[in-house]
Amino acid sequence: MNTTSTCSLDNYLVLPDHSCDARIREAREILGDQCVVLGHHYQRDEVIQFSDYQGDSWRLSELASQARGQYIVFCGVHFMAESADILARPDQSVVLPDLNAGCSMADMAEISQVEDAWEQFVRMGLTSDEGDGITPLTYMNSAAAVKAFVGERGGAVCTSSNARAAFEWAFARNRKLFFLPDQHLGRNTGYGMGIPLDEMAVWDPYLPQGGQTAEALRAARVILWKGHCSVHMRFLPEDVDRMRQRYPGIQVIVHPECRWEVCQKANDTGSTDKLRRLVAEAPAGAKFAIGTEIHLVNRLARQHPDKTILTLNDCGCLCTTMYRISPQHLAWALENLVEGNVVNPIKVRPAVKRWARVALDRMLQIKG
Ligand code: SF4
Repeated sequence: MNTTSTCSLDNYLVLPDHSCDARIREAREILGDQCVVLGHHYQRDEVIQFSDYQGDSWRLSELASQARGQYIVFCGVHFMAESADILARPDQSVVLPDLNAGCSMADMAEISQVEDAWEQFVRMGLTSDEGDGITPLTYMNSAAAVKAFVGERGGAVCTSSNARAAFEWAFARNRKLFFLPDQHLGRNTGYGMGIPLDEMAVWDPYLPQGGQTAEALRAARVILWKGHCSVHMRFLPEDVDRMRQRYPGIQVIVHPECRWEVCQKANDTGSTDKLRRLVAEAPAGAKFAIGTEIHLVNRLARQHPDKTILTLNDCGCLCTTMYRISPQHLAWALENLVEGNVVNPIKVRPAVKRWARVALDRMLQIKG
């Protein structure tokens, strides 16, 4: 298979957005069943309109594992495309239209830092290297190497859709779990299960011994990696108060990547799929302030004109890395596939793939 580009990206980046639409449609038509385009809910409308399937990272992983065609074009971010490659058949190719579409949260847990933390846990006698003592769990939003790390040590991947079920699964193995890389999803999930905040210790990879005493780590039920989503961190408890004051009767619904204080004040929390469901199932006239990425909020507002749908904070809650996938990049990737060129293929190394697959398969079995 040819993996060099005959259609140069530079020629596409100068095109206006709308001029790519017809070209994308034509390329999709030529490729037919050979190609599936997956789109994350946070993608912009100009891109997601071309996806065969839309979903959160859980749903898109499932779809990637079931895709029949030769090409999976992933309109999302790097860790999602890596997961698709891990779950896809060996003869399939996964394409990420812009390799710069990363995730700042995933980047907060480098594999060398994770290995170093684990070694310290082993030295302290908290666990064996194989995971007898601590179950490691990683959020989907992490690098393939981190997924492989947890898979090899008896752990699993989870998404915001099945985080609670994954915690229950992990606690059935050990009394303690190590959650990467989003401290907020970990804290919100643990607290929702009745674990007090003082039984959850935050591990800061930039401080000696994670910034914790050995006693605190020994006592903790959950060790949380100090990572966060820069988009969801923008929502503050005062935003909830302000919206309730301004719009009496409004329901505040937020993603669990938001701070604990925000989730505590909200009417409900949930994955992007759950947030969509809550809005869809509400009666006409319902009012929502939603704490998640702005493209999804704006799309929900357009899809439900009979309801009031507002962002919880209108100060730029945009995932800039998701936004990197543009119609120009999509047209470039698809037209190259038509030419038989796989541009921006995402290939996870076989050694990493093996254990990451184990961790992802466990995720797919743990229903939310
Ligand atoms: S919204 Fe946050 S967690 Fe999701 S891809 Fe963007 S930076 Fe990463």
